[in-house]
Amino acid sequence: MDVINPATGELEETYDTETAADVDDALDDATETFDRWQTRPLRERERLLAATGEELRANDRSYAENITREMGKPISQALDEIEKCAWVCDHYAEHASTYLNPDGHPSPPGAVAKTAYEPLGPQLAVMPWNFPFWQVFRFAAPALTAGNVVVLKHASNVPGCAQAIENVFRRAGYPENAFQTLLIESTLVDDVLEDERVRGVTLTGSGPAGRAVASTAGHQLKKSVLELGGSDPFIVLDDADVEAAAETGASARMLNSGQSCIAAKRFLVHTDVYDAFLEQFVDDVEALTVGDPTNPDTDVGPLASSTFLEELDTQVEASLEAGGRAVTGGEPLDREGAYYPPTVLVDVPAGCPVDSQETFGPVAAVFEVEDETDALEKANETEFGLGASIWTDDRDRGRRLAREIDAGCVYVNQLVKSDPRVPFGGIKDSGFGRELSEAGIKEFVNRKTVWVE
Ligand code: NDP
Repeated sequence: MDVINPATGELEETYDTETAADVDDALDDATETFDRWQTRPLRERERLLAATGEELRANDRSYAENITREMGKPISQALDEIEKCAWVCDHYAEHASTYLNPDGHPSPPGAVAKTAYEPLGPQLAVMPWNFPFWQVFRFAAPALTAGNVVVLKHASNVPGCAQAIENVFRRAGYPENAFQTLLIESTLVDDVLEDERVRGVTLTGSGPAGRAVASTAGHQLKKSVLELGGSDPFIVLDDADVEAAAETGASARMLNSGQSCIAAKRFLVHTDVYDAFLEQFVDDVEALTVGDPTNPDTDVGPLASSTFLEELDTQVEASLEAGGRAVTGGEPLDREGAYYPPTVLVDVPAGCPVDSQETFGPVAAVFEVEDETDALEKANETEFGLGASIWTDDRDRGRRLAREIDAGCVYVNQLVKSDPRVPFGGIKDSGFGRELSEAGIKEFVNRKTVWVE
């Protein structure tokens, strides 16, 4: 696996991939470790997770530098990502016992019925490069604490991050092989998942990868959770605080150089505030500093690879040819590295790539809508259903409209974000299952009913 630094285009390092025999050994190790790990008291597993948070904080810069080197995330955001991983460790270290406490049920006289939450065994995690630490931790922290063990197949452009994450758990004191990284090509994923030693799979990534993995998991009758793409609407109503909406909207679209599944991608703005919003939004977008991701002042770095840059450019070009207009940006920057500038498109006809497809880069499409009904129709006119953001001064109106949105989460007067305290996940082509909070730790457990007369 070649690591190409997307800021320079230079080859940083080459990693040897692992073979089917290596995978076989790893799964033996995972099975043996699971047998012992699942019997350790939950309090002990919580303590190790707390130590994991400490390890992340103690060496945050070195972990963050891995992210920046391999996928080009601006260093200040990479440091935020490490802190967020520590936060999810803190969260489950504090709450796992409560979440996994056996539930009582109304029982007939003379009997006691409870649901116990028991681990399932080795779990496969197939993960993407865009938040190379966070995506792994938000799954691994609850899965390990529930008593499972984890094997990670990370995206092939972030092998250094994958190995660093394995080291985090080792340094925190986890048993050898409780968390293992497999440096394998995606063509081997099916074999791993078909292996009877693997008891479930979680995948964060694109629709095609999700479909492939879910279909194998289905065939094997194994539990799966899918966190896929999104084309989240960001609705600005006539009574919104336009300045706040524009400022938050710019972050919601441009964070991580636009490569986020929950980024605001389609801005649906009420006609009464359209001009004011657009002016402020473009100002905020143009104020972002684009450049070297190792510079702490950089807001927008390169895309993760030149291939992703080409894909984004093709989507924008087709949307411009169809009649769209770039108010700012609109073509790759003429410099070394995979740089695409923060871009705002308007007058884009419905059905163009930036409207109907997911755009994974710093490109916002702004649409004018007539009223609430128009906004809702357009918001739901997508195959995805991950998140949505609604801006209004009337919270009741926000709550009412939230019920009309087809998505896994709706944030009113806030950007869509993943937070350890609340469930996260999508519907429709954005996947199924939930991560984080109590819901996340209960995905990969056996909910065992125990009835005692
Ligand atoms: P991919 O789907 O290409 O890759 C994700 C992971 O799946 C990688 O580890 C990849 O391995 C692996 N993979 C790819 N194809 C297959 C396959 N056929 N069978 C098994 N595994 C496979 O996505 P990207 O890495 O390009 O990530 C971007 C996508 O992920 C976007 O669409 C984005 O919206 C989505 N995403 C969703 C999130 C969510 O929480 N809902 C969060 C972040 C991203 P390899 O690299 O070796 O190909």
